[in-house]
Amino acid sequence: MRIAVASRKGGTGKTVVTVALATLIPCSLQPEAVSQRPCYGMPCAEINPDLCIECLSCVDGGGPVRCEGWAVCTVVCPAGTTAMKRRYAGAICYSKIALGPFSHARLEPGFGTSGLLVTEVKEQAFERAGDRQVLLIDGPPGAGCPLISTVTGTDVALVVTEPSASALHDLKRVATVCRGFGVTVLAVINKCDLEEGMADATRRSCRDAGIRIVGEIPFDETVIQSIRELRPVTAYDCPAARAIRTVWKNIGRELGVA
Ligand code: SF4
Repeated sequence: MRIAVASRKGGTGKTVVTVALATLIPCSLQPEAVSQRPCYGMPCAEINPDLCIECLSCVDGGGPVRCEGWAVCTVVCPAGTTAMKRRYAGAICYSKIALGPFSHARLEPGFGTSGLLVTEVKEQAFERAGDRQVLLIDGPPGAGCPLISTVTGTDVALVVTEPSASALHDLKRVATVCRGFGVTVLAVINKCDLEEGMADATRRSCRDAGIRIVGEIPFDETVIQSIRELRPVTAYDCPAARAIRTVWKNIGRELGVA
């Protein structure tokens, strides 16, 4: 069972939910590093300062301050001083936790998550998972390349949403993308009691769109305490932990494995 936990916006509770679900399997989350290998981003322009005649052709027209890899400067540069090179973006890491393999990455400052990076981390996870029955992916925020890379090849996208108009819009976008890749979409409403009207609107929209809500997590200050103390919320006896246990049971029922 391959489950990708997704959401378009950061801060909705993806990691809290993913870590909490992992503890229900159960396992120790203390990673023991085994190996790591370098990861390179998309090619960016690199200027050889010794050859540059400072004509500024490459910055005319107010181009982006930070290279976005369009390679226009390699065409306009009269001195032929720019070249496109892949830069070191960080490391793809493989660690062990009590449950089994843990595939993750460490990004260099200034590098964002890319679809390429997510694909490499996920492929390593698939390779290392062997015949293990559950693979959990803590997806990056967004509805573009990183989301597509996260959900392809998974059985379920568990979309974490909140009771707000923007979160509902995001949920629909993420669900559309996931379904386009043949992935079953389930939803969980986090902090469901913060805005009852919007929570109702989310329930109605999910019903209309055929998205099964597998749980609702109430606002619970223990979640903040658990983050502060670097412990999974399921280590506490609290309403959020109980709700996440119900989410896990419902996912199993939806997939016919519980
Ligand atoms: S176009 Fe080439 S020579 Fe001109 S400023 Fe840019 S890098 Fe330097």
